[in-house]
Amino acid sequence: MNDYMVRGTAANAQLRVFAATTKETAERARLAHNTSPVMTAALGRLLTAGAMMGSMMKGEEDILTLQIRGEGPGKGLTVTADAKGNVKGYALVPQVILPANEKGKLDVGGALMGREYYRSAGENVPEEGAGIPDGGQRAEEDAPGASGKEPEAAEKSREAPAGENEPAAPVGGVLSVIKDLGMKEPYVGQTALQTGEIAEDLTYYFAVSEQTPSSVGLGVLMEKNNTVKQAGGFIIQLMPFAEDAVIEKLERNLQRIKPVTTMLEEGLTPEGILETVLEGMDIEWTDRLPVQFYCNCSKERVEKALVSIGKKELTDIIAEGKTIEVKCHFCDHSYEFTVEDMKELLKQAE
Ligand SMILES: [Zn+2]
Repeated sequence: MNDYMVRGTAANAQLRVFAATTKETAERARLAHNTSPVMTAALGRLLTAGAMMGSMMKGEEDILTLQIRGEGPGKGLTVTADAKGNVKGYALVPQVILPANEKGKLDVGGALMGREYYRSAGENVPEEGAGIPDGGQRAEEDAPGASGKEPEAAEKSREAPAGENEPAAPVGGVLSVIKDLGMKEPYVGQTALQTGEIAEDLTYYFAVSEQTPSSVGLGVLMEKNNTVKQAGGFIIQLMPFAEDAVIEKLERNLQRIKPVTTMLEEGLTPEGILETVLEGMDIEWTDRLPVQFYCNCSKERVEKALVSIGKKELTDIIAEGKTIEVKCHFCDHSYEFTVEDMKELLKQAE
């Protein structure tokens, strides 16, 4: 287990900072879902962000879900994380193959948003994200408690969970951030995808939906044999009292830094990445947490999901007279249920 994240503050707590190395997490996701390189990169980036954003939650039982739904051939991603560095996720279409983008990189934006909508990350934005946005005027929906699937919904369904009850997607696609903080209703924030490259989409989300100007950098580098060579990222957030001088310094630094994967390739640790991005500012480390791809599915949970589909559905399945296999969307583990098993579950169903 080499994956971990560090957390801290910088410039006298005017900045809140996170960085992670997530090669094993991304590779574990690739193995579970047999993702193509571009989808491995997409999923790896969102898993990395999920681990860091999950750690921003306060409660032991809190669950964060990041969901991207777009008009590209990859259709979308779902990632779920807890506050302790456990993260899991899947791609709706794992095997998208696309030519490299104009920068010669894996075309994550094209895979998620589609070519028609995908704008190149632009001249002003460093590769793989970063850059602090100025807010923005684009369409945004912020609907606490509205729609949004509950984080474990995928395990309750035998079919792919996408599609039903999705909010109407703005042009190109939507990013949903769903926080189940143990309240009656989860918090749901939604913003339009900006580039589909994920880091920029999260930066925009933080600015517009959480009113927290942030810089997000995420990267996944593949080996020639399509396994994961490097993965990681950082998130830097401005506190409301951040001084202009600190913001300007940070912006200058962000313009200078290399992509996350280059920094990782050069041997930088998460600490080293933050020291580079925050050069000239004092960092105070808060803690270091292991990060892992972890799925908490079990036969018992799948049983509960089957019971919840209802008497009629179960009766129909039993009538087919066959053992069924139920796969966990998050880790691809499969669970078998014989006709006898299902008759037992039918007794428990309402
Ligand atoms: Zn699972």
